Amino acid sequence: MLGWDRSRSQSEKLILSKETKSSWWDKSLKTIHRAKWYRSVKEISSLPGAVIELEGRSLINFASNDYLGLAGDPRLISAAVAATQKYGTGSTGSRLLTGHRKLHRDLEQAIAALKQTEDALVFSSGYLANLGTISALVGEKDLILGDQYNHSSLKNGAKLSQARIIDYLHCDMADLAQKLQEHRSRYRRCLITTDSVFSMDGDLAPLPELLSLASQHQAMLLVDEAHATGVMGARGAGCVEYWQCNNRQSSSWADCELIQIGTLSKALGSLGGYVAGKASLIDYLRNRAATWIYTTALSPADTAAALTAIAVIQDEPAIKEQLWRNIKYLKQQLSSDNLLPSQSPIICLKFDSPTTALNKSQQLQEAGIFAPAIRPPTVPTSRIRLSVMATHTLEHLKTLVRAIS
Ligand code: PMP
Repeated sequence: MLGWDRSRSQSEKLILSKETKSSWWDKSLKTIHRAKWYRSVKEISSLPGAVIELEGRSLINFASNDYLGLAGDPRLISAAVAATQKYGTGSTGSRLLTGHRKLHRDLEQAIAALKQTEDALVFSSGYLANLGTISALVGEKDLILGDQYNHSSLKNGAKLSQARIIDYLHCDMADLAQKLQEHRSRYRRCLITTDSVFSMDGDLAPLPELLSLASQHQAMLLVDEAHATGVMGARGAGCVEYWQCNNRQSSSWADCELIQIGTLSKALGSLGGYVAGKASLIDYLRNRAATWIYTTALSPADTAAALTAIAVIQDEPAIKEQLWRNIKYLKQQLSSDNLLPSQSPIICLKFDSPTTALNKSQQLQEAGIFAPAIRPPTVPTSRIRLSVMATHTLEHLKTLVRAIS
């Protein structure tokens, strides 16, 4: 045996030791499996849409963030192809070096027009927009008060900033007020952060109250409109529009600095993120947001697709109206006992354990429906998260209701 071993080359021995030695993360993986928290990817082989081809089966899709069904829209695809032919596949550098194209500026102006802000800045993802903006706005001497259910990008942006972080109870304005009262005066700047539509619950942050509290305590308010843009508000501008917080001239929160963040990857059917707000804020971020300055600009294809999506949203309000008809129908049909409160296309069914949620998701899949179980640590309690699309037909919705009941 020893002779056999000695005859092996060094690299063979290395491979052998790689194969046999277990690493500390193997133990961690076992714990993840035991807790039923293990996650893996699923391969989709069709265009995105209300019906998808998943691992060889055709399923009705209730798992997508493509709320308006634009990610497979021929107009967005043509715009992406045309931009690729004109500008190439990659933008080749950061915006401040070789990465800037007219398309980027056109998209920023279109976002600002949709959001009714002075300007906007496009990032390579919504996650990067949150990391870069939060860490540019506050630092060691400052305070961040965040909703406990905020998206991971808001929480990690807060950590990156090195500000003191305090979470307030989910959408609990009395708790936020008390925490502002207790801590605000000890810090230089204060930033309140919140999702506007909570991504794993589907409920809405009370923006008017948040703005009032921010204004009272000289705090800035950063609102993540990832799941609201294209979906909420009369023109699809998001929850700031839905709550009528965009016309702040005569209101009690007129002096509060409102920073709107979002993504191009959900209702806009593309990839990328943005910040919308005052022109001076955008100018400041162009000079201070590390995740914008030191990363490659958004690809021409993604930029063009998002620009086309904004035009579609503005020109064809009927798509959003169909989405809301679908949401209304589904909510009427599902028993309210096990639904989490929702005012958006995200509708969650509660389950008492990860196993029951996983079993239900499996049952739905057998009935031809893709609706994944969302479990801790992503959320505090297990659930099936359904996301409604404008392109779901009545028959798709009826099939889901039958399978659930
Ligand atoms: N914020 C929220 C609330 C989100 O749900 C997401 C995506 N899941 C993001 C930010 C990140 O956006 P992106 O996918 O563009 O990185």
